[in-house]
Amino acid sequence: ELYIPDGVRRCRDRLWEAGWPTYPVGGCVRDLLLGRTPGDFDLTTAARPETVMALFPRTVPTGMRHGTVTVLTGDGPVEITTFRRESGYTDGRHPGEVRFDATLEEDLARRDFTINAMALAPDGGVIDPFGGRQDLERELIRCVGEPEKRFTEDALRMFRGVRFAAQLGFELQTDTARGIWRCAALAEVLSHERVRGELEKILCSPRPGWARMLFDTGLMRRYGCIPRGAFVTLSRLPRTPEARWAGFCAVVGEEGPSLLETLRLERKTIRACADGFRLWKAGLPQTDEAWRRALWEYGVDGARAGAWMGDWEGRESSPALEQVLRRGDCWSVKELALSGQDLAALGYRGKDIGAAQRQLLDHVLEDPSANTPERLRAYLSETSETIEEDT
Ligand code: ATP
Ligand code: MG
Repeated sequence: ELYIPDGVRRCRDRLWEAGWPTYPVGGCVRDLLLGRTPGDFDLTTAARPETVMALFPRTVPTGMRHGTVTVLTGDGPVEITTFRRESGYTDGRHPGEVRFDATLEEDLARRDFTINAMALAPDGGVIDPFGGRQDLERELIRCVGEPEKRFTEDALRMFRGVRFAAQLGFELQTDTARGIWRCAALAEVLSHERVRGELEKILCSPRPGWARMLFDTGLMRRYGCIPRGAFVTLSRLPRTPEARWAGFCAVVGEEGPSLLETLRLERKTIRACADGFRLWKAGLPQTDEAWRRALWEYGVDGARAGAWMGDWEGRESSPALEQVLRRGDCWSVKELALSGQDLAALGYRGKDIGAAQRQLLDHVLEDPSANTPERLRAYLSETSETIEEDT
């Protein structure tokens, strides 16, 4: 028996009571059949969006043009989309016209892959006109219908196909793979955000090696970068966007900024990748002291990104860095046992405060145990005496 959360079940039953056939559909059916926990449950219904809005007290018109209404339930939001069929994709991105006079079969037929084109009947049966269950068993990503036609309608499906292969550990069915090789040039019209989204999911999947296919087929040609190493070994890095994007920069041998900006990554990630790349290229630290100096120069995010690049190469860089971080060694002026105020109280003025802080930091980076007020004061008086002696 496939588990559907109460909130979703109630939405479905309410629509059936009002006379509108309604089914859990798409990714949630796929995940349930795989024994995985669905990320979200989507319903597909014969009711039009206005009808859905009228039937439930709390709704949000999240995508009326596509027929999507979000119903807020005690169990969280449920997306309800009217059966639809699309006609006249003209630009490879947007359905030219969305029509709501469709049947469930037509709604399933517009979906991308057979494993995503199943619905759950109220009696628990699976409505599966395209052999999605069999493809789940055979572990195949197969287009619904003719691959080249489907990729021409929406070029993002090529990225999605590779992404599902990477996430689920499936293979691309032969004609579907061939379709990607043939239609890859169509990817040029896609928005960078959507490409980024799929690429990120591939990089963060258990099989980041699939990213290779995006480059081999030409899906990434517009970005003008060429992998210089293996994507597979990104699996050594944590499955977070920060880590995997850092690794990505190492694979393509680029510091990142312009490429990652084009892909619309967050500023913070772009900055960390660029800093990390410079640290990595300059040679990763071999000692704790060198890690502390790297932290001072590149910050935590930059040092981590650099360390991930080292991990990608098969070094144990992150563990070394994380150990330094866990120990709480001082690696910035802020952490010094003497503050700017303390230095002012000792008689330092203006620029001399900054200079003394840098001198102290340098000392503490070398020997973290020196970071106590007493030892820092002693150090200052020693060094200033030397200076006086010199003059
Ligand atoms: P995820 O677990 O990543 O959410 P998902 O299969 O639910 O996977 P969504 O992007 O949430 O993917 O889309 C929900 C459903 O809508 C899909 O299962 C598929 O049936 C359909 N779908 C989504 N994008 C497309 C597309 N570009 N072309 C055709 N059908 C699509
Ligand atoms: Mg989904």
